[in-house]
Amino acid sequence: MCGIIGYLGGREATPILMESLKRLEYRGYDSAGVAVLELPKAGEATRTSVTKSEAKVDTLIEKLEANMPSGRLGIGHTRWATHGKPTYINAHPHTDCHGKIFVVHNGIIENFAELKAELQAAGHEFPSDTDTEVVPHLIEANYKGDFLAAVRAALKRIRGAYALAMFSSDDPELLVGARLNAPLVVGLGDEEYYIASDITAIIPYTKRVLVLGEGEVAAITPLGAEVSTLDGVTVKPKIVHVDWDVAQAQKGGFPHFMLKEIHETPEAVANASRGRLSDDGVVSFREFDIPDEQLRGIKDVLLLGMGTSLHAAMIGEYVIEDWAGIPARAEDASEFRYRRPTVGDKTLDVVITQSGETADTLVALQQAKARGALTVAVTNVIASSAARDADGAIYLHAGPEIGVASTKTLLAHMVSLYLLALRIASVNGRVSLERRQELVEALRVLPDQVRGILARDKEIAKLADKYSRYRNFMYAGRGLGYPVALEGALKLKEISYAHAEGTSGGELKHGPIALLDDQFPVVAICTASSTKDKMVSNVHEIVARNAPVFALVTEGDRSLDGVATDLFVMPQVEDAMSAILNTVMLQLFAYHVAVKLGQNVDQPRNLAKSVTVE
Ligand code: GLU
Repeated sequence: MCGIIGYLGGREATPILMESLKRLEYRGYDSAGVAVLELPKAGEATRTSVTKSEAKVDTLIEKLEANMPSGRLGIGHTRWATHGKPTYINAHPHTDCHGKIFVVHNGIIENFAELKAELQAAGHEFPSDTDTEVVPHLIEANYKGDFLAAVRAALKRIRGAYALAMFSSDDPELLVGARLNAPLVVGLGDEEYYIASDITAIIPYTKRVLVLGEGEVAAITPLGAEVSTLDGVTVKPKIVHVDWDVAQAQKGGFPHFMLKEIHETPEAVANASRGRLSDDGVVSFREFDIPDEQLRGIKDVLLLGMGTSLHAAMIGEYVIEDWAGIPARAEDASEFRYRRPTVGDKTLDVVITQSGETADTLVALQQAKARGALTVAVTNVIASSAARDADGAIYLHAGPEIGVASTKTLLAHMVSLYLLALRIASVNGRVSLERRQELVEALRVLPDQVRGILARDKEIAKLADKYSRYRNFMYAGRGLGYPVALEGALKLKEISYAHAEGTSGGELKHGPIALLDDQFPVVAICTASSTKDKMVSNVHEIVARNAPVFALVTEGDRSLDGVATDLFVMPQVEDAMSAILNTVMLQLFAYHVAVKLGQNVDQPRNLAKSVTVE
């Protein structure tokens, strides 16, 4: 999620680690640290110097400049906390009981709690609250004189997502990298080597990059880099030449952060349910560990948010009501705070904010809390104000989002709210084992289904190209398609400045239809759902007013053939997952319209990423 750098070569490692961490800062992070294997003085044993900062890289650099460790092997990290607050102790690198093995990690160790318990029972001590800390201890527990073998044995036991850079002071000429569900590359220099989570870190040093595959381990020595699987089978390294400048590298080769972040959705939706969902569909949230009894006592759910988060709240409202069978309502937090709403101690208040700092949402949260509601923040930022103020937190684990218009974090919000709905439905006895298993399966295949939409980028760009000449747009949908339509319209107006509004299919004839003519296209969400036929009727009404219609339909459904101006065929999936795929499609559509119009998609005019004022 955040930044990793490792170095092994003939030069001093510390200045390289410092420069690289500086270059990784753009991603956003909360704390930083390095470990350098110091060159032993004559007669002395090797020792590792660890320097950490619970704040910015600049503070870390000041500390290093005051006391510069000298060595040719080192690892560095910028942390974006997922497990444990952003504190000095939780900052990486982490080490084993004997201070020999050092590890930096990006991602989430899904089964860390059980591994930690097992290692604690065997006598290992864990000063930090991180999931990462199980890695050095697990390697230590498997160490029988061969560091690489111990790493492989340890990693075989780990589930989840990791990019790791590691070394042991017992093996002073070996730097090890490994990855699963998180990016990691090895930079190949002139008799020097780098490990990085992001090419940005190493761009000034080398253009030759070894791209590590899923589940692969890179063993780097002064003689070169060797890649193997966890079973020790040698893999032919995949080496590419990267000709990017720093700005291109930061965007992972994409022209904008927004497009890069849309392409990170598969990982974001996977991370949102990682470690929270058993095969039988039992949901557990670590930081919102409410006893079943208390949850069963909840009589209604209030979901608060602003902007894209308000649309997530609306999706939550539909799903909680449908699955859990209790009243749920989504409210604009800025309105809620000035009303005298009926919230009581049987209300669950779910506040939705990507940054955890949205001013209106924070005040609304306080008010719901003051009226006795049980509160939970669904947010991307650990220990943010919302997470601290609420009784519990559900973290998205979507990784930093730089583009001002929210993309991947909305999809992570949606998955998180699906899990919450499932949790409430389960304690209410409203969902059968079969249905739960169906949802587990639907979430399991979701990342690949999102990839399927992303792979159709050109097709979407072509549609966007065609529609970019219009100045006004209507988005219409029903059921979950309604908030999806509102969000589609919001995304388009945010970044393209075209006028776009969203409406429910039913509301259309009560007013909005008056706007329609052949210069006012409608984006119609007509994918399979219980109200799909009603949407098809709405499309007929729209077409009768000469408005161009571009409709999202489910494969195999021919009802709009020859009726809509353009069709975009979506795969047949569960309704809740369809809302996710449709949203991704509309994000890409908005992106391409904005790019075609030459707008600044990453920093649209008049908007800020985190709205911390009323
Ligand atoms: N899960 C780890 C932690 O919370 C790694 C965070 C990251 O990816 O930066 O420390």
